This record gives sequence, structure tokens and C-alpha cells, in this order.
Amino acid sequence: MPRHYTPAVNARQIKPASLRQPCKPDTLKSTRNFNSMNSILILHYHEIWLKGGNKKYFLSRLITAVKQSVEDLSVAGPQYISERLILRPRDEAALPQLIERLRRVFGLAYIALGREVPRDLDGLSSAACELMAAKDPRTFAVRAKIADTTFGMNSMELEKTLGQRILDHLRGRGSAVQVKLHDPQVTCWVEIIPGTALIYADRVEGAGGLPAVTSGKVIVLLSGGFDSSVAAYKMMRRGAHASFVHFFGPPSPARGSSRPVAEQIVRALTPYQFTSRLYLVPFDSIQRQIVAGAHESLRLLIYRKMMARIAREIAKTERALGLVTGDSVSQVASQTLHNMAALDRGLDFPVYRPLAGDDKTEILKLAREIGTYQISCEPFEDCCPRFMPRSPAIFARPEQLQEAEAHLNIESLVNEGLEGTTAVDFMFERGSIACREATLPRLKKLLVWRKATGEPAPEHSTVNEEK
Ligand code: ATP
Ligand code: MG
Repeated sequence: MPRHYTPAVNARQIKPASLRQPCKPDTLKSTRNFNSMNSILILHYHEIWLKGGNKKYFLSRLITAVKQSVEDLSVAGPQYISERLILRPRDEAALPQLIERLRRVFGLAYIALGREVPRDLDGLSSAACELMAAKDPRTFAVRAKIADTTFGMNSMELEKTLGQRILDHLRGRGSAVQVKLHDPQVTCWVEIIPGTALIYADRVEGAGGLPAVTSGKVIVLLSGGFDSSVAAYKMMRRGAHASFVHFFGPPSPARGSSRPVAEQIVRALTPYQFTSRLYLVPFDSIQRQIVAGAHESLRLLIYRKMMARIAREIAKTERALGLVTGDSVSQVASQTLHNMAALDRGLDFPVYRPLAGDDKTEILKLAREIGTYQISCEPFEDCCPRFMPRSPAIFARPEQLQEAEAHLNIESLVNEGLEGTTAVDFMFERGSIACREATLPRLKKLLVWRKATGEPAPEHSTVNEEK
């Protein structure tokens, strides 16, 4: 047991927050052991995206996202100080809700509940001793970050000095506490910033990724199942703004319609990106026309291809840059590499499959974390298994699909899908979701153009509009 506090690693060698042991989600819910008067929330962001000239842009989007997430709660800020954001809650009762909201803000590495304390060594020591006495740990470590070159001590010296003082203080109270630099029970974090110091022992991991709506738009093919919601989340976490397209058939007596399920999923995902649009496309009649002539082993793939074509046209009106699906390689028959290659052939539009390499258990874990799992557990009538053969093709070739579609007038089926499409807009405002039916002037223009030319629209809808 070290009597003296000797940090073995320099603060610069500490792993980034995302690689450290995640804090338990409810760590910050209780402020019972902490003098929460003057509590502040310290938000740290990932730094990778902040290199170079993009920093201002990403940072301003992050600040906007933080503001939008907590605008109805009793809190001041965020204030930007030396690569962190600080929020000052006005009411302790708002803390759990604040933290819950902040955990959905993409771009945040972690959220700490701390206090602002004097920067001099005595002030710092007494705050650190008070904090650690309240925690009464069996093992602890001190970690310091110094973001002010005028402070006069480096982080290792500060860690060592504060560590020793805490050790003496706790031992003096009869504790058998030990210093443990690797995986301590409690860590006392200290951050020195211009004009003040921050101290905390509680923090939770943030959502990570890039700030919302910083990377362009995508259209997610949303089924209501577990996978496509998780696929959407993963793309949103990389800064993409998702709009959703759901294809639905008639409900069966045993299972309800899939539409409310899709709507609930979009509701659950909207707080991460603040606004969403859900397109609802009736698919029953299109499916029947496919079934009338296609070989049954290829039906499912032809449904999928038709969905992708309709979604691609919607993407053009949204000026979206790609489609997203929840396919995971070989999870089901339609998702073999062969079938996915056949599906994408001729689509001439990027298709992202962020779950391609994920196992179902990983996908379900994430679905639980983001709050879509329970929604997808509800029974609903999925349009894809309708008229399904016992053995669907698993090694389809693009030419086979083309042949199987020979009896169909593809462009008129796409028009039929687009004509029946309606949409709902969702907005996360002041802590709740508002929704309203969307008007779709661009989609209507596109349809007029498509009917006049009998062709799919060129890549950008603006071209359509000009024509
Ligand atoms: P999911 O859990 O997302 O339904 P899955 O493993 O059940 O995926 P499929 O049902 O074969 O697989 O669907 C594969 C992908 O096709 C889905 O992830 C989704 O992106 C898209 N898709 C399937 N059905 C629909 C639908 N009704 N509306 C929109 N997209 C759909
Ligand atoms: Mg499914």
C-alpha cells in the first residue's frame, strides 16, 4: 500500500474517455453524496473532428444541439471555456432530466457533475477532501487536466499533491483507503481552466459520434423491426440527418398495422436529431402485381428492389445523398452478399448498410440502449413476408432479377407508390415531440415530371424542377 501518492502515469497517457470503463448510467442520478449547491455540468466532446478549419462549424452545431436538448429545463448556458461546455443548473431537481437529455446529444464524450472551486492549492485541496470524504472510497485516484499554462504546476504534480492531501484527510478520519491508479473505485477529476477550477467524481459517457445534422441527409428504409432503427441511429450518430420511408400493407386480424410502430420509432429517434420526416408508402397493390408474375423464390428481392427504387425517388426530392437499410450480412436469406449485390445493381444511388458486420446480439443491445427495442417487440403486420416462398433465393444474380421483373412496368409501379405516399413531420421542441402531416410539393413536381417523361428522375431534384 503506497503511503505516498505517486501517480504512475502522466495525464497525457490516460486513455481517451471513450476507451475508459463506462460509468454506470445512473451514477449521476443521485447527488445525495455531493454538495449540489453550485453544481455545474461539464460537457466534454470528442476532439478528432475538431482539427483544422471545421472546428468552428462542428462546435457551433454541438452548442446548438445542447441548447435545443435542454431549452425547457431550468439551466443557464452552455458556456464554452477551454474546449469544454459548462451548464449551470438553477434547480437541483432538474439534474436527472438534464443528464438524460444530454446523453442523447451526439458529439459529447462524457458529462460530469461537478463544482467550480477556487484555483489555489488550498481551495482545491479542501474541495477535493470534502468531495472524497462524501464518497468514502476504498480506493481512489486523482486525475488532473490543466488547460491554463499560467497555473504553475503540471498535471502530474497537481495529481500527486492533491492525492497526498486526500489520502491524509481520509486516513485521518479512520478510513483504510488506498491509492489505486488503475481502475480505482472513485476518481477525483480536477480541471484547471482560466480563472477557475472544476472538480468532480461523477461522470457518465455521452453518445459520442459527431454533432447532429453535420454530414448531409440520408433516407432510411424503416421496417419497424429492430435492425433498421439501429441502422438509422448509427448513421445519425455520424452526423447524417435521417428521413424515413416505411412501406406498409394491410393489417391482419391477429397483428396490427406496422404504421404506428414506424411512427413510434421515429418519435423515439427524433430527439437525437430534433426533426424527422416519415414517408408512408402503401405497398399492398405493388406487392400483388409483383406476385402475379415473378418466380416465387425471387419475390422478396423484387419487393426490396421496388422499395429501394421508390425510396431513391423520395431521396432525390429530399436532396438526400444515400439510402440506409438495416441489412446485416447473411442474417436472413435476403441479406446474402450475392443478394445485396443483385439488389444494388442498376440502382445508381449509394446504399449504406451500417449493420453489415454486426451480430444480432450487438444490434439488440443497441436497440435497448436507444429505446427502440420495446417498440419493435410489438406485434405488427410486416409486409415483406406476404406471399413468401418456403425457400427464397440466396444467390440471386442481377440478370435473374431483371428477368423476373420483365412482366412489370417498373416506372409505373414506382409512380403508383409515390402517388400514394403521405408523410408526417416530427419536431423535438421544449422536451416533447410535436408532429403534423407534411405537405409534399417537391414529390408532386417529381411525379408530374416522371409521368411526362416516363423515366426515373435525374440525381438532383433541382434538375427536375428546372425541367
Ligand atoms: P429489420 O429488423 O430492420 O426489419 P430484418 O433483419 O428483419 O430487418 P428484413 O425484414 O429482411 O430484415 O429487412 C431488411 C431491410 O429492408 C430492413 O432493415 C429495412 O431497411 C428494409 N425494409 C424491410 N421491410 C421494410 C418496410 N416495410 N419498409 C421500409 N423498409 C423495409
Ligand atoms: Mg424485418
